[in-house]
Amino acid sequence: MYINPSYFIFMIPGLLLMLWAQSRVQGAYKKYGAIPNTLGLTGAQTAHQVLQTAGLGNLPIKEIPGDLTDHYDPRDKTLSLSQGVYSRASIAAMAVAAHESGHAMQDATGYTPLKFRSAIVPAVGFGSNVGYIVLIGGLLLQQPTVAWIGVGLFALATVFTLVTLPVEFNASTRAKDALRRAGLVTVDEARGVDDMLNAAAWTYVASFASSLMTLLYYISLVGGMSGRRR
Ligand SMILES: [Zn+2]
Repeated sequence: MYINPSYFIFMIPGLLLMLWAQSRVQGAYKKYGAIPNTLGLTGAQTAHQVLQTAGLGNLPIKEIPGDLTDHYDPRDKTLSLSQGVYSRASIAAMAVAAHESGHAMQDATGYTPLKFRSAIVPAVGFGSNVGYIVLIGGLLLQQPTVAWIGVGLFALATVFTLVTLPVEFNASTRAKDALRRAGLVTVDEARGVDDMLNAAAWTYVASFASSLMTLLYYISLVGGMSGRRR
């Protein structure tokens, strides 16, 4: 399909950043997953304590399969923790559990970027599927207007990865504060939690950068086509 040298110029930096961020988060997860926390709290217990302090003690916490599949779903108000987090009493488990609890706190306090992100999810799903078809159609039929609509639809995905940044950074800030205030971590452990959550934050930066570069590539394709027609 539309593969030319500039495709690689736009795609490779984002891809490399993604791979680097992934390996960093996996490295941090492995490192801090092997260090037990002083209080011997599992991820589930950590989440429960953090949530209780925030007045969300009755929120369901369930165990799900996989590695780093942890998430909070605002639709069913449930905290899902992966096996390695739910029942292990490591620094990594504590960090991840507190981070997901941070999302639950965002939801409970009506944190605007989270509300905005949830609101655009259906449009993003539609945009990234249909946008690509519209874009290719516009390019094949040499219709710049159609192709620009495709670019616009695809841009929704980039907006999503952008608004994910404050949501994720804020959840980690809430996690660190909550662990410190509840006295669940020592100074050294807090540093480990920071390290783990900072590594995770880079994966979201990489997703945004990669999505932005893809968008710029599409813009350059359609811009080039519009230029040629004039
Ligand atoms: Zn998160």
